[in-house]
Amino acid sequence: MKDTGKHQGLRNQLVQTLQQKGIKDSNVLKAIASIPRHLFLNSSFADYAYQDKAFPIAAGQTISQPYTVAFQTELLQVKTGDKVLEIGTGSGYQTAVLCGVGAKVYSVERQNELFKQTSLLLPKLGINPKHLSFGDGYKGLPLHAPFDSIIVTAGAPFIPQPLMAQLKIGGRLVIPLGEDHQIMTLLIRKTESQFEKHEFGEFRFVPLLENKN
Ligand code: SAH
Repeated sequence: MKDTGKHQGLRNQLVQTLQQKGIKDSNVLKAIASIPRHLFLNSSFADYAYQDKAFPIAAGQTISQPYTVAFQTELLQVKTGDKVLEIGTGSGYQTAVLCGVGAKVYSVERQNELFKQTSLLLPKLGINPKHLSFGDGYKGLPLHAPFDSIIVTAGAPFIPQPLMAQLKIGGRLVIPLGEDHQIMTLLIRKTESQFEKHEFGEFRFVPLLENKN
């Protein structure tokens, strides 16, 4: 499938919707205006790709709602060249938005099917994260740490300690916390041992699952 003028028009409308919902960061809005979300979805949902909605993807997971992607990305305050760790690659759409705002993206996915599918898709679209890996996001990516910021895109029952440890001082960790529904939470690492916590609205995510092995 291709990206057409019609898709660009729908993206521009989506950007307006996101602005009306309170997204202000022009880099985030520009990234959303340029990334062909319809190519991250199964073709049966492609016609709806620019609605501000989550949709099913492989392995029983979901592509996050554009508003959620924009909200989380805005909270990260990415500067060009920042090293960003994403937990939950999924469709790769959030990964693409992070690349679009200039991050060097490291992303982890625990579903092999999604890891493989997204590893093939992103380069085809000219999107090149630094590193995609198959594994357990609860552990972070110690070999590539520390990170300027970390984003978790699944609902976490608690903040995994390794993620806090892998954040630079001054770095930002954005994580939806809760089981049934989640409170978007921002932690800013102030010193080696001090983290400042900010809470935002309620969101709904698929769960961040722990590996049983
Ligand atoms: N950013 C993705 C969100 C996908 S949904 C997108 O917009 O497409 C959340 C993803 O987190 C799912 O793909 C799920 O498999 C993954 N996930 C859940 N638990 C995980 C874990 N412990 N480690 C890594 N990924 C995990």
